[in-house]
Amino acid sequence: MGFVKTRDISREIRERCGVFAVVGHPKASELCYYGLYALQHRGQESAGIAVLNGGRIQTKKGMGLVADVFTKDDIVRLRGGSALAHVRYSNVGDEGGIEDAQPISVKMWQGQMAFAHNGNLINAPRLRARLEQDGSIFQTTSDCEVIPHLMAKSGLNDPVKALIKSLSDVRGAYSLCVLTSKGVIAAKDPHGVRPLCLGKLDGAYIICSETCALDAVGAEFIREIDPGEVVFIEEAEHPGSDVGRAKPPVSCYIDGARGKRGMDLCVFEFIYFARPDSDLYGINVHAARKALGRRLAQKDSLSADLVMGIPDSSLSAATGYAEEAGIPYEMGIVKNRYIGRTFIAPTQPLRELGVKIKINPLRKVVSGKRVVMVDDSMVRGTTSKYLVGLLKAAGAKEVHVRISSPPYRFPCFYGIDTSSSGELIAAEKTQEQIRELIGADSLAFLDVEDLEEILGRRAGNLCTACFTGNYPIPLEGEYR
Ligand code: 5GP
Ligand code: SF4
Ligand code: MG
Repeated sequence: MGFVKTRDISREIRERCGVFAVVGHPKASELCYYGLYALQHRGQESAGIAVLNGGRIQTKKGMGLVADVFTKDDIVRLRGGSALAHVRYSNVGDEGGIEDAQPISVKMWQGQMAFAHNGNLINAPRLRARLEQDGSIFQTTSDCEVIPHLMAKSGLNDPVKALIKSLSDVRGAYSLCVLTSKGVIAAKDPHGVRPLCLGKLDGAYIICSETCALDAVGAEFIREIDPGEVVFIEEAEHPGSDVGRAKPPVSCYIDGARGKRGMDLCVFEFIYFARPDSDLYGINVHAARKALGRRLAQKDSLSADLVMGIPDSSLSAATGYAEEAGIPYEMGIVKNRYIGRTFIAPTQPLRELGVKIKINPLRKVVSGKRVVMVDDSMVRGTTSKYLVGLLKAAGAKEVHVRISSPPYRFPCFYGIDTSSSGELIAAEKTQEQIRELIGADSLAFLDVEDLEEILGRRAGNLCTACFTGNYPIPLEGEYR
């Protein structure tokens, strides 16, 4: 398989986000604000809130963390009974500008609407080229913008019908929310790659990427949105006022998707992406990670003095490993949690002097010890290499790297951050070559079968394409 053009499309590939929508609550924008805080791990590049008031949609968005983008006055000003919010992710040096921040608000002949999604629309480049040749003028480089253009051309007045018709042309992984002049429409792609769930708070409904955001606002989890499901929740009585009240959700399915397909939920949500206090299809993410760590230990016969994780994403797996192996769990490094967007990285001369701001090993803990360092994933291998070096410099006698997922060998095209396959350390190297490169005394990964056994049985089918190359949604054109 050749991935020659992956570099050119890296912007789309790196997009991965969080969405949060409210229907029928007098404090809709305030709920969105707290919901976004709970989803901040899903995107730190930009944040936005759109609110429906008096049939009009008002939007505020900006670059940076939720705390940087919104003031108290903004939240007070964004009055309305329904709202839609979004956080967007991108890698350093790969940042879309403010024009790509979501929600994207548009005025169409069917009415004003705002769009926000998490995922990647694989055929967006082709659809966009066709629409542009037909005269459409795009405002952003976001793949999501093809959807309003398709809706405007659908000839259908009803936004729900127009959206369903448009989504039958779109292929890819998406969890999408649309704020209309009546309420919110939410849709999950027929493969169900990205998470999206429904919750309830007083008389209001909430749709969001992860259950931790429901917890954050005190809402009750109702259910996952089904693969291929389109849910419409209308504001009752005073649409667009700040009175708040919602009608019960009404569901239909894209292209008769219901019952036709299984699900291909992204396994990386369990491994790295989701917050440990979220549940996906009834499985708690922390518990899942712990089980993966246990499995690593079951496959091991290592004697070591301590087990450590890498804050924050591998701590669950590391505790699982330690418990199963009966080796003490320790804090081997401390991470500075207060490094924001505006952090000025130390220049090379200072780095050579050993200036370490982001992460510091606990010398007294690791010195002279045989350390098991558990991380959740290895993508380019740079993190492992750096940390092994750091631990050895702090006096660790041996460093054994254990990764609670399989080698990441294929790029993701469904909305998670990955490099081109040239940057994936496991794409071409053997395990022994990787071990040598990162300077570890030993190295082990999990197998895909371990993931499927531990997660798959309860979660249904899982997308494991970055480990196996079996892409559940066929790739097309430049993505192939
Ligand atoms: P590597 O350094 O091998 O490229 O990446 C692996 C490390 O990055 C792991 O510590 C993992 O927790 C973290 N990681 C995995 N996926 C992502 C991602 O999509 N974005 C970011 N920022 N970190 C990731
Ligand atoms: Fe998730 Fe990997 Fe599938 Fe991408 S390829 S959706 S990261 S499992
Ligand atoms: Mg990590």
